[in-house]
Amino acid sequence: MPEIRFYNREPVPVEMHKVKIVQKLTLLPGKERLAKMREAGFNTFLLHNGDIFMDMLTDSGVNAMSDNMQSAMLRADDAYAGSETFYRMRDKLEEIFGIGNLLPTHQGRACEHIIAQHLVRPGSCVIMNYHFTTSKAHVTRLGGHVEELVKDEGLIPKSDLPFKGNIDLDKVKACIAKEGAENIAYMRLEAGTNLIGGQPISYENMKAATELAKANGILTVLDASLLQDNLYFIKTREEGMQDKSIAEITRMIADLFDMIYFSARKFGFGRGGGILIRDEKLFHEMEDYITMFEGFLTYGGMSVKEMEALIIGFEETMDMDIISQGPQFIAHCVKELDALGVPMITPGGGLGAHIDARQMVDHIPSEQYPAGSLVAALYLCGGIRGMERGTLSEERNPDGSERIASVEMVRLAFPRRVFTLSQTEYVIDRVKWLYDHRHMIGGLRFVHEPKTLRFFTGRLEPVSDWPERLLAAYEADFGTDQ
Ligand SMILES: *Cc1c(COP(=O)(O)O)cnc(C)c1O
Repeated sequence: MPEIRFYNREPVPVEMHKVKIVQKLTLLPGKERLAKMREAGFNTFLLHNGDIFMDMLTDSGVNAMSDNMQSAMLRADDAYAGSETFYRMRDKLEEIFGIGNLLPTHQGRACEHIIAQHLVRPGSCVIMNYHFTTSKAHVTRLGGHVEELVKDEGLIPKSDLPFKGNIDLDKVKACIAKEGAENIAYMRLEAGTNLIGGQPISYENMKAATELAKANGILTVLDASLLQDNLYFIKTREEGMQDKSIAEITRMIADLFDMIYFSARKFGFGRGGGILIRDEKLFHEMEDYITMFEGFLTYGGMSVKEMEALIIGFEETMDMDIISQGPQFIAHCVKELDALGVPMITPGGGLGAHIDARQMVDHIPSEQYPAGSLVAALYLCGGIRGMERGTLSEERNPDGSERIASVEMVRLAFPRRVFTLSQTEYVIDRVKWLYDHRHMIGGLRFVHEPKTLRFFTGRLEPVSDWPERLLAAYEADFGTDQ
């Protein structure tokens, strides 16, 4: 579906759905937001959803279901073992990906846990185009390490490259030579590469990388959590792909991999997860982990109602009208903010709009978490909840020093089919205000710092009274009631 054309104005993205159920939103006064931010230890993960106007933390488990997904839930076959719903889900995934060996899990990181548990040994290396927080944590927990071999150009924030998630084949060759193929547990390619801004990887690059892995006897794994956005970008940006259907492209990609896993909190518009495993023997070896950690083999910790809805959700993922919406709204947001001078990760990717925090608040040292500070400021000034994706999301080096993230950004996620264009315009307006007042934003420091995945539950405090001063400036422009 092309973007809707307009007669007498600049085109804007148009929602290709109508709203049938709504949730009321509240916009707290600024002073109350400051109190809530303090209670939450300046960590947006610890805010209560009811205190948030625009929740752009994540696209995980917060995408809108369609009427067809909701109605499918009524026919869910609730059973502990042998649920017909499970077999329908397996068949749908086999139809889409061509692999019928399905291990169901409760969400994406559970897949990562099980894959790593089975394949990673102390000293193992896992090759990735780029890491994702949980996929890396599971590897390092088991004594393995991750090699991130994305092309250098993918890390340049402002760019017009169509496929910034592409892996560097020369780096892969060098890594195999250095580590030894037998020490490489698997190669994990991430579609819609999350932590560099939801940036896609091309089909051609996936093909070349997986061929290289196979030539060296290395298992290939696709993280398909953000595949829907990546499919849109392959179809619209990659040469020779325009005439192929989304289903055809999906199958071409799937055929390259030994294993495919996904978070159904993103892929399929529901909640859950799954691993598809081509090799029969490997599939049966890994079954044990499901019964031990997730649930019986025909639900894996998922609600059967959600599974029934997911079957429709997977089908909807093959519909260009549906999967084009996220990237088109994100492109609009990124384009507008970029034109206003705000440093954005460009081009716009899937999953959300990403602000280059290292650039925007370049007066805040990395050790005081520029992106963490900016995301706290954005809640104070507008009730918008984004997510820090930078140094705060890293873990410290073994010697206790900070591991400075190569990309320091704030993500404004666009949960799929959730926000309207006027809400998007509001976000653009508040980010621009904050950009014009960026020098008033100060840093943060930890008061409680967990060892693992500290960004989820860590508590921080501002290094000065900058939040009070920033809020005063905000209230001078917008009043004290919003
Ligand atoms: C969200 C995500 C995961 C983890 O999925 P959860 O369901 O949140 O556990 C893994 N990989 C990628 C690329 C993701 O975006």
